[in-house]
Amino acid sequence: MKHESLSYLPKENQGPWKTYLEQVERVTPHLGKLAYWVETLKRPKRILIVDVPIRMDDGTVAHFEGYRVHHNTSRGPAKGGIRYHPAVTLSEVMALAAWMTIKNAAVGLPYGGGKGGIRVDPAKLSVAELERLTRRYTSEIGVLIGPQRDVPAPDVGTNQQVMAWMMDTFSMNVGSTVPGVVTGKPIPLGGSLGRRDATGNGVFFVTAAAAKKIGLDLEGSRVIIQGFGNVGNAAARAFHDHGSLVVGIADVTGAIYNEKGIDPYDLTAYVAEAGGVRGYPKAEPVPAQEFFSLPADIAIPAALEGVITEQNAWKIKAKMVVEAANGPTTPAADDILSERGILVVPDVIANAGGVIVSYFEWVQDFNSYFWTEEEVNDNLRRVITEAFEAAWQKAAERKVTLRTGAYVVAATRVLEARALRGLYP
Ligand code: NAD
Repeated sequence: MKHESLSYLPKENQGPWKTYLEQVERVTPHLGKLAYWVETLKRPKRILIVDVPIRMDDGTVAHFEGYRVHHNTSRGPAKGGIRYHPAVTLSEVMALAAWMTIKNAAVGLPYGGGKGGIRVDPAKLSVAELERLTRRYTSEIGVLIGPQRDVPAPDVGTNQQVMAWMMDTFSMNVGSTVPGVVTGKPIPLGGSLGRRDATGNGVFFVTAAAAKKIGLDLEGSRVIIQGFGNVGNAAARAFHDHGSLVVGIADVTGAIYNEKGIDPYDLTAYVAEAGGVRGYPKAEPVPAQEFFSLPADIAIPAALEGVITEQNAWKIKAKMVVEAANGPTTPAADDILSERGILVVPDVIANAGGVIVSYFEWVQDFNSYFWTEEEVNDNLRRVITEAFEAAWQKAAERKVTLRTGAYVVAATRVLEARALRGLYP
């Protein structure tokens, strides 16, 4: 059957969405009869584009463009973060929403996939402006979100405070306190212990499982991490705490390297003062474009998508790329890495720690009964390691990459749900 293309999507700037569609193409031959439903994966269920006008501190009114996309809700409410970044586009949010569908299914969470964002540089706003932006955006997407419908969380450029404002705005609009409408909240508002570092810790747990498969000892192994935000920082601490050497770190201000290892706690204190890793006195500056060719055993992109491409995939020295960011590797780079025998642990498993503990937070909010940090971390380790093993087994069975293995597991779950539910009406 011939299918209509998505007329609302601009022809240019489709990068991450194109990457996602290619990933779906790669999994389709492995879906058997479920391939009948595969078109479902290639189009978002619904898209909301909102104008977000706010009064700036100088009295002028500024308008920002915001989005909330539900990619798929066959298996449960939409779930996925909110991004504040100057490069946010509709096609990027669509891809990020779709990766959430795959991720939630790959790790067995009862969620669909969603994502939202505003094209804005949050660093250029005052705290008061950021709060007004968040509250207006939350009101605008209020028709979509809710604890049973769509549950946002932090992503690039948003944090616990932004989630607190979202929860408060939603609660004020419905007239009662609704902690389960967002996850990644501060602890006093129904947040979960262990959520802040969950994505970074999950990256570590998955890397440990993958390292075992390729006979790499994490103790003393050299790690480079691009991104020193929520995810990169927590991952750096987890590796450092378990005896690995974090030899290279990059953020938007620059890249640094020290073959003897960088102490992420010391660097965090420096970044709090200096605003970025550039100029850190206990490491050498290195050119940002050479970052992924630094000598290391494990390379971890933990910033933005599309950073490992055919230009730099040839130069990667690491034995393993662990995708802490969403969509950091283009399909062409994927092929090069696979040809070179470099293991890529895909984002949909590697960075799922955040949404796994978000799920625990949501469950705790419904029950109004809160777990210890140990319970959270034990369950995180179990769920993410099991998901890794399932993807690993599937990849071996089908003789495909770990990414395609994870997609086979996930797409099968999503499309089984689709087939069982049938088409409405
Ligand atoms: P963040 O805003 O806290 O940090 C982003 C980091 O990336 C910052 O250190 C920033 O300086 C750096 N960065 C930005 N542009 C860069 C560039 N051009 N070169 C080098 N570094 C650059 O965001 P985050 O929450 O840590 O998210 C990072 C990635 O992890 C994103 O892909 C996000 O989608 C993904 N992710 C986040 C979570 C979560 O729980 N926060 C969960 C799953 C996946």
